[in-house]
Amino acid sequence: MLNVYRRLAVLDQLYKIYDQFVDSLDIACEKFCADCCTCNVTMTTIEAHKIVSALDIDSKKTMQNKLNQQMKKQRFIPKITTNQLADICLSDDDPPEEIIDPSWGTCPLLTDNACPIYNLRPFGCRCMVSKQRCADTGAAEIDEFVITVNHVFLQYIEHINQNGFSGNLSDVLAHTIFNESADTGTEITIQQTTLIKNSPLSALLVPPEHREKIEPILAALRAIKA
Ligand code: SF4
Ligand code: SF4
Repeated sequence: MLNVYRRLAVLDQLYKIYDQFVDSLDIACEKFCADCCTCNVTMTTIEAHKIVSALDIDSKKTMQNKLNQQMKKQRFIPKITTNQLADICLSDDDPPEEIIDPSWGTCPLLTDNACPIYNLRPFGCRCMVSKQRCADTGAAEIDEFVITVNHVFLQYIEHINQNGFSGNLSDVLAHTIFNESADTGTEITIQQTTLIKNSPLSALLVPPEHREKIEPILAALRAIKA
């Protein structure tokens, strides 16, 4: 099992490979376009650790205050992780029904239509890309192949954080700020009812029609040195 510092180094490489992939896409996303910044984004605890450990004490307090307000509001609480979804698909079972509604509101961190932690934002934010401006069409228009790539990265991130948890961005960040000291590098150790224990990757969610096209990305992922 990788220690937290090695997991963070792998996470940085995963983000880098994904950001390079996004650079190759023809998308409408741009600064201050933030309709996708809803309160329903999910993340893992290793990603929260990356964010929280970069904040000074005042920034942590400000974030905690915003998150505490969010705890009183409706938001997406996932029932399973991406690797658990893959296992369910493998066994031909039906995944649990998830309830999510974009009208529940914006991300509590969003400030003046911009992300205050943009360079540190979790994968759930990075992977929101659209061919058309969401404001024009009412929803993101995401290429099927991009959705496949997104699943693969979500699976890898969960895999490197299999001793951690997944959940709504607000819940994961709030519990991480509360439970960890950025100075010790220790990761969240208690499970909360809103968080789900992560699972190892057992099979990639790649449909047959994308297997050849995704191979260069998989090769880049396999080449990551821990
Ligand atoms: S996903 Fe939609 S709302 Fe988000 S930046 Fe792209 S176009 Fe804008
Ligand atoms: S963390 Fe930043 S990029 Fe992600 S939803 Fe919130 S404001 Fe948007």
